[in-house]
Amino acid sequence: MVGCTGSMPGPESPASCYLVEHEGFRLLLDLGNGAFGVLQGLIDIASVDAVFLTHLHADHCLDVAPFVVWRRYSGRSPGPLVPLYAPVAAERRLALAYDADGDGLTDVFDFVPVGPGALQIGPFQAQLARTAHPVECYAIRLSAGGRSLVYTGDTGPCPRVVDLARGADVLLAEAAHPDVDPAQPPGLHLTGRQAGEHAAAAGVGRLLLTHVPPFVDGQAQLAAACTAFPTSELVRPLAVYQL
Ligand SMILES: [Zn+2]
Ligand SMILES: [Zn+2]
Repeated sequence: MVGCTGSMPGPESPASCYLVEHEGFRLLLDLGNGAFGVLQGLIDIASVDAVFLTHLHADHCLDVAPFVVWRRYSGRSPGPLVPLYAPVAAERRLALAYDADGDGLTDVFDFVPVGPGALQIGPFQAQLARTAHPVECYAIRLSAGGRSLVYTGDTGPCPRVVDLARGADVLLAEAAHPDVDPAQPPGLHLTGRQAGEHAAAAGVGRLLLTHVPPFVDGQAQLAAACTAFPTSELVRPLAVYQL
């Protein structure tokens, strides 16, 4: 858990970024604001093999910019391009986030546009499903060594996410909205209870709650999730999970 705060970096954690490792392959799921700082304390940046961005909201992608700076100017950059899997138009959007001229980042990344369906990322068999979110966003299921992890990215209630997560060992689910928020727009985020309901409907082995904003009570989100999935857990910054 490189960064697990929702919608923005918080005082205790960067925004969304999860490092997934298998057989020495290092995949970053999202690279939200603040994450690159913490990441440098965890691994050698040169060892990142691939990056997957669920979508292009700031809290999931903005630290691509310092990643580019490191690769260009640290003098410690390995040669090969880093595959960057993301929704269509990520290349342009991230280039503009880096620099007003929008010069390409193709000296650092090999941009791979993604859509619903299957793809291979290193040793991981990946499956993507479009979530319920205002911008194009993909939940991802990673399978390797007989184990499976599903990360929702950002989503409102979504049957496609339940289908993607069916029988997974671990569901890493966003739970950004308080259950008591009367102004909650549909198709944006899950409440804690909804995250628990998605986990129960999918029959996952374990539910990890993440993406709780700094201004939302994480323990309340956890309690709400537990009403539908009693063994729900709330992730902590820097926590490590063995699948
Ligand atoms: Zn988000
Ligand atoms: Zn979002």
